Amino acid sequence: MLDMTPKEPAERKAVTINPCKTCQPVGALYCALGVHGCMPHSHGSQGCVSYHRTILSRHFKEPAIASSSSFTEGASVFGGGSNLKTALRNVFDIYHPDIVAIHTTCLSETIGDDLNSYLMETTIPDGKYVVYANTPSYAGSHVTGFSAMMAGFIRFLAEKGTPNGRTAIFPGFVNPGDIRELKRILRVFRVSHIMFPDQCDVMDAPMTGDSRMYPDGGTTIEEIKALGSCERVLALGALASEEPANQLKRKCGVPYSLLDSPIGMEATDAFIMALSSLGDGTVPEEIEKERGRLVDFLLDAHPYFHGKSAAVYGDPDTVTGITRLVLEMGMTPRYVLTGTPGEAFASSVRALLAQYDAQGCEVRAGGDLFELHQRIKNEPVDVMIGTSYGKQIARAEDIPLVRAGFPVLDRYGHPYHPLVGYRGTMRLAEMIANALMDRRDRDCKDEDFELVM
Ligand code: SF4
Repeated sequence: MLDMTPKEPAERKAVTINPCKTCQPVGALYCALGVHGCMPHSHGSQGCVSYHRTILSRHFKEPAIASSSSFTEGASVFGGGSNLKTALRNVFDIYHPDIVAIHTTCLSETIGDDLNSYLMETTIPDGKYVVYANTPSYAGSHVTGFSAMMAGFIRFLAEKGTPNGRTAIFPGFVNPGDIRELKRILRVFRVSHIMFPDQCDVMDAPMTGDSRMYPDGGTTIEEIKALGSCERVLALGALASEEPANQLKRKCGVPYSLLDSPIGMEATDAFIMALSSLGDGTVPEEIEKERGRLVDFLLDAHPYFHGKSAAVYGDPDTVTGITRLVLEMGMTPRYVLTGTPGEAFASSVRALLAQYDAQGCEVRAGGDLFELHQRIKNEPVDVMIGTSYGKQIARAEDIPLVRAGFPVLDRYGHPYHPLVGYRGTMRLAEMIANALMDRRDRDCKDEDFELVM
């Protein structure tokens, strides 16, 4: 397995090997699935959207609906305007969505399709909506596409009206299990809010025996319009949520607070204090107890993870959160890597490392897993924490792998459970501790094999 990976890293500029990201439309499609009654539409070839749907379905173990402009050679040469107009007519006639969210692809971007002019020449049925976002995949990643699609919804739909006293929550590119946990915390704080987007009950829809094109969940169009009348936005995760928060501020003047994804103790504390400041400044006892239980757990189990080293990789906002938790657990995040380009990630992780005086750590934005493997070959780590794409490295180097982030293609249940909040942090810390303890059980001498640990 990966036997040919050389130990010595070489300078590479023109090729990515084993990428640590996927393409922009995947994120745009996922964002659109978090809007109720929405049909995501891929303006490109059928091959693109097949891939985008497949990776989402494999991660969530749910169908990921989407339509396509079905480019062939003709559209590639003469432009995709005709395909798009026909597609929109068919989609509204046959699948009856409330809204169609179009994202572009490499091909339609490369030939310079102008969606704005196409839509001006298209008749949208009364009471229906079409929004779009430009998502060229030769830039950014699925996180960039997610962010662009959110900004697209806001650009077309958000309206400044009478202040509604609500707080908008932008959860970032996270699982339905995370959003469900965020909503539970918001309920405990009694915060009147709009969650956008919201994939709960769409990408974790219960089995009811009925097959429905548009499940119950998702942010409604009315709620997206009402974002413009919110008092404030809590934007979680800079890479996924800052641009849409900026878009809403520019369009409707809604101020925002940018917070890290609430993964780990300190980031969750910051989220909790932000919620507390929306009310009377207090923190409900239920939340305080959750925090106390997490502290207790970390203290009890710390002999098993203290001083261990980790490689953390995946999406930037998630990786930042996991890195913080690793530091809080007394471990060393030896390698921290995201495939999404952007110095903002690297500088925020470096600041985190400096805060904990962590030495000998390497941080990389826009990197790939081939490079991570080479570094691990030279200096192994005790545990890898990231997506399923690291499993070949974990097997090749015999390193425990804790699956976290997107995508997790080779295990079940992952999207249902949170990584955010004190409860999600405890779950993640438990997975890391258990992976290290399983390794110890496997490798120790018979006389050191303990029943009670
Ligand atoms: S061609 Fe571009 S948009 Fe299509 S699947 Fe490949 S990277 Fe994604």
